[in-house]
Amino acid sequence: MNYNGIDFDTYFKNYPDENGYFGKYGGAYIDENLKKAMEEITEAYRTICKSSKFISELRRIRKEFQGRPTPISYLERFSGSLGNVHIYVKREDLNHTGAHKLNHCMGEALLAKYMGKKKVIAETGAGQHGVALATAAAYFGLECDIYMGAVDIKKQAPNVARMKILGANVVEVTDGLATLKEAVDGAFMAYTKEYKDAIYCIGSVVGPHPFPMMVRDFQSVVGIEAREQFMDMTGELPDAVVACVGGGSNAMGMFAGFLNDPVEIYGVEPLGRGEKLGDHAASLTYGTEGTMHGFNSIMLKDENGDPAPVYSVASGLDYPSSGPEHAFLHDLGRVKYDVVSDDETIDAFFKLSRLEGIIPAIESSHAVAYAMKLAKKMGNGSILVNLSGRGDKDMDYIIEKYGIR
Ligand SMILES: *Cc1c(COP(=O)(O)O)cnc(C)c1O
Repeated sequence: MNYNGIDFDTYFKNYPDENGYFGKYGGAYIDENLKKAMEEITEAYRTICKSSKFISELRRIRKEFQGRPTPISYLERFSGSLGNVHIYVKREDLNHTGAHKLNHCMGEALLAKYMGKKKVIAETGAGQHGVALATAAAYFGLECDIYMGAVDIKKQAPNVARMKILGANVVEVTDGLATLKEAVDGAFMAYTKEYKDAIYCIGSVVGPHPFPMMVRDFQSVVGIEAREQFMDMTGELPDAVVACVGGGSNAMGMFAGFLNDPVEIYGVEPLGRGEKLGDHAASLTYGTEGTMHGFNSIMLKDENGDPAPVYSVASGLDYPSSGPEHAFLHDLGRVKYDVVSDDETIDAFFKLSRLEGIIPAIESSHAVAYAMKLAKKMGNGSILVNLSGRGDKDMDYIIEKYGIR
């Protein structure tokens, strides 16, 4: 399929280019030490991850350990309450550990094993990426250092406990505001010193090349499975595909299955409390081009051009940028990016729980909320939503802040 001058038949061969660019976005804006480390990972990715041995081992792990393929569920009562549109969800909440993040963590950790590394290093904010990586490290017998801000360690006690039970070393970062940004700096600093024995495992389709490509490719299992399952169930393609976008990994995984199809694709960003800078984290909708955390993309900036403070009810969407491939698809118009508010999200959270017996993660509830709006606009047809994770982690917070609706 040709779209605005881009040939999507050969898209995955051409994007990113060999320097990690999706058009003008992407690249690797890092110092010389790290450049060498990134080149080593890129080279290993190109050789090891394309070998039949690696592919078949990852395939076996996905089936026997992760429980893939995850199903697609048709939301009969939920759809019925909205009119004539049929809504389906891809159940990444049923992936082991309860979210999509394990898809790329298992790939990254398997690559670490093949490269002969002894340790995986990462940062975590809310702890979701840390738990997924700690799980992968336990599975492969790798050491695991997770850098986490002191403030987040206090806030996310259950995830800290999970990481420790899984055998990970949670490294407390006390610099600055002691949250995600400082944790990123801490993890990168450690990696610069330890890269001979360790590999850095990023949590989304962000960071320097090759991570946006590598994480997309590992997550694309979601979209590839979903396309085949949807065709099996209905005999046709969905009219629209919807996913929430934080860094953008669950969305890129889902979208990868449908970019070359006549399917409308929507990425949903968090509007939070409103349009004012600081009240949301809708970077593609309101941001401008800029470079941070080693890559060029569209980002939200403060008056000094630094990453702006952001807010969302979903801690997993609380990031001032998104992956470079999303910025590229945004400018191209192939994917449409739109927003839903905290309130719309919480309504969707309760509605899906009550009508279908599925408690979604607050992140995923953004995609569900958008599907509700889209269904009203479309009037008929079908929508496939990526349900990126389950809501168990969010229940205490929801009850405390919103009560039972
Ligand atoms: C982390 C997380 C997200 C956001 O990350 P992406 O890279 O944008 O997918 C979304 N949903 C869940 C359940 C998460 O844990």
